[in-house]
Amino acid sequence: LLSVRGLRKSFGENVVLDDVTLDVAAGECVVLIGASGSGKSTLLRCINLLEQVDDGVITLAGLDITDPRVDADEVRSRTGIVFQAYNLFPHLSVLDNVTLAPRRVHRVARAEAESRAMAMLERVGLAEKARARPDDLSGGQQQRVAIARAMVNSPQLLLLDEVTSALDPELVGEVLDLLRELREEGMTMILSTHEMGFARNVADTVCFLDGGRVLEQGPPAEVLGAPREVRTRQFLSRLV
Ligand code: ATP
Ligand code: MG
Repeated sequence: LLSVRGLRKSFGENVVLDDVTLDVAAGECVVLIGASGSGKSTLLRCINLLEQVDDGVITLAGLDITDPRVDADEVRSRTGIVFQAYNLFPHLSVLDNVTLAPRRVHRVARAEAESRAMAMLERVGLAEKARARPDDLSGGQQQRVAIARAMVNSPQLLLLDEVTSALDPELVGEVLDLLRELREEGMTMILSTHEMGFARNVADTVCFLDGGRVLEQGPPAEVLGAPREVRTRQFLSRLV
């Protein structure tokens, strides 16, 4: 479904992604791990076209999304993204947060956008909060709204950047449970996390980023259970 080839991205002199190659099959769950600054967020942002790549090609379902002629809004609707800080608009209701992109960017009529949004809120277990403001929800609930918002355009791929790291520990579980369910339903996702237990549980493939390079990737039992690379072992041993 997704293919990343020879991706390079620098910020000034700082080479953040260095020849990254990654393939994601439909229905696969790829988990990105790696130290702070290793390039996980930048990789996800490149796939969502929030960053311009310096070199390399990203294709999504056969479409070269790094082609400058591509419609970025259209690509973003196919690759829903969720961030660590849920970034909901505080002055809008939960429902309006979820319908905003379909209505403003994709010109979907209000009734249609709202019915899609309600279906998504239903899916994340928050239909009864549709009229509430984000501030009236717990962090875990807000993050579930952000996931509903990312899914409202029926993306082919869901990108999740450390979606549990801003949450109080007792709220992490409900978000991880939702991700596990989405995965079981066949949603293709790439997520970055520091939760190794979760990575081991849900990942089909774990991808270890080190200084902007994919140093090691494979099934969790290999990468987390029996890493080949010294740097992977060092990274994992520092976690506990
Ligand atoms: P973390 O685990 O802390 O979230 P990460 O693996 O997500 O880290 P990135 O956020 O991708 O890492 O950052 C990789 C490098 O890119 C860092 O050195 C960071 O300082 C740099 N960087 C990221 N975004 C920008 C930006 N907009 N401008 C300049 N440098 C940036
Ligand atoms: Mg990050």
